[in-house]
Amino acid sequence: MWKNIRVACLLVVLLIVAVNAYRDQNQNWQQPILIVMHPINADGLASTQQYIQQLQLDDFFEIKQYLEKNSQHYRGQSSYFMFQLGRELRQVPPKPPTEPSIFKNIIWSLKFRYYAWQQHQAADGAPSLTLYLNFYDPKQSKELKHSTALERGRIGSVNLFASEKQSQQNNVVLLHELLHGFGATDKYNLNNGQPIFPFGYAEPNKTPLYPQTVAEIMGGSVPLSQHKSEMPDSIHQTVVSELTAQEIGWVK
Ligand SMILES: [Zn+2]
Repeated sequence: MWKNIRVACLLVVLLIVAVNAYRDQNQNWQQPILIVMHPINADGLASTQQYIQQLQLDDFFEIKQYLEKNSQHYRGQSSYFMFQLGRELRQVPPKPPTEPSIFKNIIWSLKFRYYAWQQHQAADGAPSLTLYLNFYDPKQSKELKHSTALERGRIGSVNLFASEKQSQQNNVVLLHELLHGFGATDKYNLNNGQPIFPFGYAEPNKTPLYPQTVAEIMGGSVPLSQHKSEMPDSIHQTVVSELTAQEIGWVK
């Protein structure tokens, strides 16, 4: 009998996991989409703290507009996005593994989910996506490690510069990770960072092909030649391709 009970328990757990995974993956775009962003002083510097203190929801308004415009374009009707600047958190999310390893990735994704569960408070509501914004002073950190988001779990850890001058490019990184959170995949070569032709290009049919003038948001950068590309200045220099729109469920 004990064996049957154990099997039954296991089945219930598996069912819950399966239902959650299904729910996570299929965003209902008819409903309002709540996105909560928690700033974090990732390098512990006073300058970073100062930047976090002056952050306003307005700084992210263009992302909301961008998403509503693009959802309108692909869905024929706009989704409603609500952004919320959540509480500042003291602890940074666990860092993703630096070298590719399936095992390390699984462990990290469990740790990240555990972190999200620990940090969550009732006041945060039930967001469609929670983003942890790790801010670094650009004077101390010249380059930021990869940001990352989990579609299953609807959480993302985003590394940003604590600088007004970088805020436009911060929004590019934020938008890219946000779309990961809803199921969009990377469209650049993970080894050299170059957008992959044709899916990572905003204008794959352009002649001449180079230089491109806009970036596909999941391709990440604007291809200038086959081997060179540059970060877009702002989200206004990016587009959401049909494939990316399909991956997040805007196009059937
Ligand atoms: Zn990415």
